[in-house]
Amino acid sequence: MIILENVPLAPLTTFKVGGPADYLAEPKTATEVVEAIQFARSRNLLLFVLGGGSNLVISDAGWSGLALKIAISGIDERNENGKTLFEVGAGEEWDRFVARAVARNCAGVECLSGIPGSVGGTPVQNVGAYGQEVAETIASVLALDLRDGQIRELCAQACGFRYRTSIFNTSESGRFIILRVTYALTPGGEPRIQYPDLKRHFAGFQQTPSLTSAREAVRRIRASKAMLITPGDEDCRSAGSFFKNPVLAEEQYDQLTKRATAKGLQVPSYPALDAQRKVSAAWLVEYSGFRKGYSSSRVGISRKHALAIVNRGEATAADILALKDHIQQRVEELWGIHLEPEPVFVGF
Ligand SMILES: Cc1cc2nc3c(=O)[nH]c(=O)nc-3n(C[C@H](O)[C@H](O)[C@H](O)COP(=O)(O)OP(=O)(O)OC[C@H]3O[C@@H](n4cnc5c(N)ncnc54)[C@H](O)[C@@H]3O)c2cc1C
Repeated sequence: MIILENVPLAPLTTFKVGGPADYLAEPKTATEVVEAIQFARSRNLLLFVLGGGSNLVISDAGWSGLALKIAISGIDERNENGKTLFEVGAGEEWDRFVARAVARNCAGVECLSGIPGSVGGTPVQNVGAYGQEVAETIASVLALDLRDGQIRELCAQACGFRYRTSIFNTSESGRFIILRVTYALTPGGEPRIQYPDLKRHFAGFQQTPSLTSAREAVRRIRASKAMLITPGDEDCRSAGSFFKNPVLAEEQYDQLTKRATAKGLQVPSYPALDAQRKVSAAWLVEYSGFRKGYSSSRVGISRKHALAIVNRGEATAADILALKDHIQQRVEELWGIHLEPEPVFVGF
């Protein structure tokens, strides 16, 4: 395996910002991952695991250490207890796997079509969209434990999945390198058409749509919001949704609705949000003065989605952070809510 020196990281991310990594390795097997770790340890280098770079803000100084871009490929398939198990290499492109699952008529990930990034990135923040999340279908995660060098198979329960979190980005952050993920899908299952956008899309259809139609619909809806990486669409130069939907305690929620009513506004409500008193971060951002298309020199808000901070070209990581801080401050002042960013900040 070749280890490169002084490699620009910006092109390896969807935001296209950030400085270089001192070293970059692209291990294609678990053995190469171990070799790369030995290299880092022998030189006392900090380690950072990079997937598809779609949920990252890399600092302008870059990463002073080794960036490990996981390139383990392969999709294996077998049937067990009425499910089809897909064992997928962490370096596989997520949407390539979803396309394969849908083509094999297996249900469970169709609503997650079009999410950028790698398979190995999906358990980290329990990727979710349009009424599905990977926690529902992940059977197990094979990972290298940096504590003792052992390779462990973690069952779904051990991954501690919750909304946009798992042990990989909370309690055990930095401990595991994900090598392979096994998804248990339902052969011949129906697509999940529960999310309002999808229900609207299929309103009036007499028959249950196929998994392929559901996948196409999700990709079309995502493209209309610049949430599908589309060459030439500047609004895609982002890390997707920049803030998580805040989950509020009852009292906080009451406070928010009172503030909204006083301004003659109504906090948007629909079942997916209501169930956990989850509030739309996009609404909070919009009603804090950051409408779609907002621009502040080299950064702004996507013209198609209020929750995506976009690099308008030539932006720096510092520009992105400044806008993030500005939005957080305004939302806190106006609504009393602290917005948590979704992307991972690297090298700050
Ligand atoms: C246009 C756009 C739309 C998006 N839409 C959605 C969406 O609908 N829903 C959603 O949940 N997310 C969405 N995202 C965010 C992002 O695509 C996902 O979080 C994705 O799963 C990140 O995977 P990645 O491989 O790109 O990870 P990276 O961005 O490379 O890394 C993210 C984190 O995961 C860690 N990581 C990555 N691979 C591994 C590994 N093999 N082992 C250990 N740790 C690893 C990294 O260290 C880092 O901490 C969107 C992003 C963009 C740009």
